[in-house]
This record gives sequence, C-alpha cells and structure tokens, in this order.
Amino acid sequence: MEQDVIIIGAGIIGLATAESLLMHGAKVTILDRNLAGHESSWAGGGILSPLCPWHYSDAVTQLTSYSAKKFPEWAAALYSSTGIDPEFWISGMRILPPHETKVALDWCNQRGINIQQYVPTQEIINTSDSTVQTQKDHTLLLPDIAQIRNPRLLQALRSRVLQLGGKIVEKCKVENFQHTHKRLCSIDTTFGQLTADYFIICAGAWTSEILGTSALKLRIRPIKGQMLLFRFDDPPVSNILVQEDLYIIPRQDGHVLIGSTLEDTGFDKQVTHLARKNLFKRALPIFPELQEKPVIRHWAGLRPGSPDNLPTIAPHPNIHNLFVNSGHFRYGVTMAPASAEIMLNYLLNSPQPIDITPYQAGWHENP
Ligand SMILES: Cc1cc2nc3c(=O)[nH]c(=O)nc-3n(C[C@H](O)[C@H](O)[C@H](O)COP(=O)(O)OP(=O)(O)OC[C@H]3O[C@@H](n4cnc5c(N)ncnc54)[C@H](O)[C@@H]3O)c2cc1C
Repeated sequence: MEQDVIIIGAGIIGLATAESLLMHGAKVTILDRNLAGHESSWAGGGILSPLCPWHYSDAVTQLTSYSAKKFPEWAAALYSSTGIDPEFWISGMRILPPHETKVALDWCNQRGINIQQYVPTQEIINTSDSTVQTQKDHTLLLPDIAQIRNPRLLQALRSRVLQLGGKIVEKCKVENFQHTHKRLCSIDTTFGQLTADYFIICAGAWTSEILGTSALKLRIRPIKGQMLLFRFDDPPVSNILVQEDLYIIPRQDGHVLIGSTLEDTGFDKQVTHLARKNLFKRALPIFPELQEKPVIRHWAGLRPGSPDNLPTIAPHPNIHNLFVNSGHFRYGVTMAPASAEIMLNYLLNSPQPIDITPYQAGWHENP
C-alpha cells in the first residue's frame, strides 16, 4: 500500500499498528502529545493473558488468545532487528485461592488450555508460613502463560518503527478535526494542520475526548492502575502469582511488580499512600519476603477503559478514512499484535483472521 497514514497516539497499540503498516509499504507518521510509549503501555505489568481468563467473554478470549500466540515470534523479531530484548518469558501464572476450581478447570479443558491443580507450594515461594502454605496447596497453574517487559517492548517497537522509515512526532497534541463529505481532510495539532489519506486514533484513554461529538456511543474512559516495584537479588518466585485482582510479577533480573488498583478517578495519575498501603497489605500474606524490602518505585497509569473490556478496532461509521484502534482496557499489551493485524487488514481490504464483529460494536453501544 502506498497511502499516507497518520496515527494518533504512540502507545503499544499505535506503535504496533505503525509497524504492521510500515512493513506493508505505507508511509506512516505517529503523533504523540507526550513521549512515545510513556502512558498506559509503559505502566502495565506485561502479563500476556487475562488474569482469570474464565471470567471474560468469548470475544475477549478470542482476541487475547490469538494475540498472545503471536508474541514469541514478534518479540524475537523485534529483538533481532533492534538489539533490544523485550524479555518475553513463559513464566506461567499461578492462581491462588479463592478461585472457582471447577469453572476454571472446565473452561480450560474445553479449550485445550493447559492447567494444573494442587501443585505443592515449596516450588512457589520459600516460606514457612503455614497459613500461606495451605492456601497455596490449592493453586491452579497455567504453565503456558507468558509475560513481557513493557518498557523494553516499547523501546524495541519505537526503534523498529524508525528503522522501517516511520516518523514519530513527540510532544505534538492533536486538538481538532476538519471533516467534510464523510471524509477527514486534516487535523489541527500543536505543530499545525496535517493531512493524510487515512487517520487512525490509537490514543488510549484519551480517544473519546479527541473524537468529541464524533465519538458517537464510544465510551472509552481512563481507569487508573497503581503499581509497586521491589528488587531482589534473584527472582524470588518463578511464576506470576494472582489472587483475585492482585498480582505479583517476577522479572528475570529480580525485580518484582505488585499490582494493581482499578480506580475510576478521571485523568488523574497521582499515586496515593492508601493504594500503596493496600497493595502491600494484600501482597504480604502471599509473599512475606516483602516485609524487609523497600518499595523502589510506585507509579500509576491510565488504562483505556471500555465496557466488557472490549476494544474498538473499526472504521468510523460516518467518516470513511478515520479508524479507531483503542479501548483495550486491562489487556492492551496482550491484544496489541492482533489489533495491529486487524487494522492492517482493514486498510488492505484483506480477510480477517478472526471474527471482528465484537470489536465494531463500541460505536453503537448503549450508554
Ligand atoms: C497498572 C496497569 C497494569 C496493566 N497490566 C497489563 C498487563 O499485565 N497485561 C496487559 O495486556 N495489559 C495491561 N495493562 C493495560 C495496557 O497497558 C493498556 O491496555 C495498553 O497500554 C493500552 O495501550 P494504548 O496504546 O491504547 O494506550 P497508551 O499507552 O495510553 O497510549 C496512548 C497514547 O496516546 C497519546 N495521546 C493521547 N491524546 C493525544 C492527543 N490529543 N494527541 C496526540 N497523542 C495523544 C498519549 O500520550 C499516549 O502515549 C495495564 C495497564 C495498567 C495501567
């Protein structure tokens, strides 16, 4: 394809979309009002799966499963082309009680997903705490779940986009649209008016705000998530640990992330003492080694929240050269490569790899 494409937003979704389009010959410019990859995509944990996958709809499962399968090859290609290792790691994910054992086992078995029950806990954490020991005796292990290190993935992607000839314009805010006769002619930015053949909005939590009245029924809104970071000499646990909506993510170099909150507080990225206290308090019984460790970093990101965790990956119903790839809520890192592929297929007019109907519904959703 030879078209000029402007992508608004250089998070994981915008950068992955840009990479796909560039590999198919498009001329791509990405605009970001901040620095590329410094918002939600940077803040996330990098688990490549929904936390308890059986809690989600088939539409979420379809997209996350298809997308997660693309990661080994994608991460390896990014590493070899840029020299930046995104640290793809099949660390497995262990669900601690309380959990709906039968629902989980049936769900996995029906889908051919590897799940193991009642794995002895000494393998998880070296702790002598007997309460924790008992709890962990009833864990469910999903051994094939992987993780990625977000900041490194984003650095690699940014570098790859530039290598492929993409243009990334940072500190450039999109402020307004000029459209006539069902076509978007230009956009007003802090760098002046810009034109293109196609425009794709990948602006995460800011997507509905940018669209204004053209957002129709699209409801993408910021949902804050706070995370804590600790450091050990070696990874103190070998799997991601999940208890309800709390998770503990070990990195291979000994860093450990604890997350996260789900806060409907608008465009506010302040970290709070209360969240820090609660995350720590909930993590401690699972992971007593934290007691002696200082929090080395505490941050917040704004997820692009959407009803039922369903992103909108679709053309605008009334403006024919405008597309949206946004609203990936809790699982945008996992969904990124598949979302980029779907967007590319729209522009190439190629068949889609999965049923994309659920990702078109956002424009028409009832408020
Ligand atoms: C604490 C936390 C933990 C998470 N953990 C996971 C996880 O383990 N696994 C997982 O899959 N997902 C996780 N997520 C979710 C995931 O991070 C998001 O779904 C994903 O990052 C969304 O990517 P995005 O590119 O749409 O948004 P963003 O990364 O927010 O990017 C949007 C970009 O648009 C730019 N922008 C906005 N407005 C404008 C404008 N007017 N003009 C120009 N540019 C603009 C912004 O500056 C930003 O860079 C987590 C998120 C958080 C916050």
